[in-house]
Amino acid sequence: MRARNARPDPKREPGARSLEPEVVPRVLAIYEDIERRTRATTEAHAWWPCRRGCGGCCRRLADVPRLTRAEWEVLREGIAALAPESRARVMKGIAELRELSARGALPRHVACPMLERGEGEEGYCLVYAHRPAACRTYGFYARREDNLCCELVLDAIASHDAQHDVVWGNHESVEHALERTSGPARPLTEWAFGPDGVE
Ligand code: SF4
Ligand code: SF4
Repeated sequence: MRARNARPDPKREPGARSLEPEVVPRVLAIYEDIERRTRATTEAHAWWPCRRGCGGCCRRLADVPRLTRAEWEVLREGIAALAPESRARVMKGIAELRELSARGALPRHVACPMLERGEGEEGYCLVYAHRPAACRTYGFYARREDNLCCELVLDAIASHDAQHDVVWGNHESVEHALERTSGPARPLTEWAFGPDGVE
């Protein structure tokens, strides 16, 4: 998927000028590859539980989200495009995470500050078209060492007796491709309040 609104304006920010112009398109191409693979999985297994609006994983992150420089460029555009109240709420949530992280007081399950939740709703991602790679792969990609996957996905696979039919994406290869293209991943809290943060 080409994230149609996700292409940052390279003239907008001092930080954007220091990023080579081809880097963001390369990261968007990685996003498209992920989208192709996840679509193939859900087409092959109509019961696959991941879908837009299922915010379970977004409420139970193991840590502050991490992303590379170009991923941040894309995400920053998504945050900047939010309505002022939503943007303020997101930035307040990121600031709270930064404070908790600095005190070593992060809860075991971190709720993503970009998850919008209403009363009785599962929630939805405010920046869906601009979300980082980790959000796109979770539930579909596995690590060779420790396949930390969503219980809903594992339960669905087990209940359809599909353990041998599922072809997981290679999480490490996505991470390496992102690092090669866009440098090391850093926490969202550092990007958001660094020199290339949200204005
Ligand atoms: S990984 Fe789990 S919680 Fe997240 S979208 Fe998929 S089924 Fe829902
Ligand atoms: S950015 Fe969106 S998809 Fe990713 S964890 Fe946050 S709410 Fe979920």
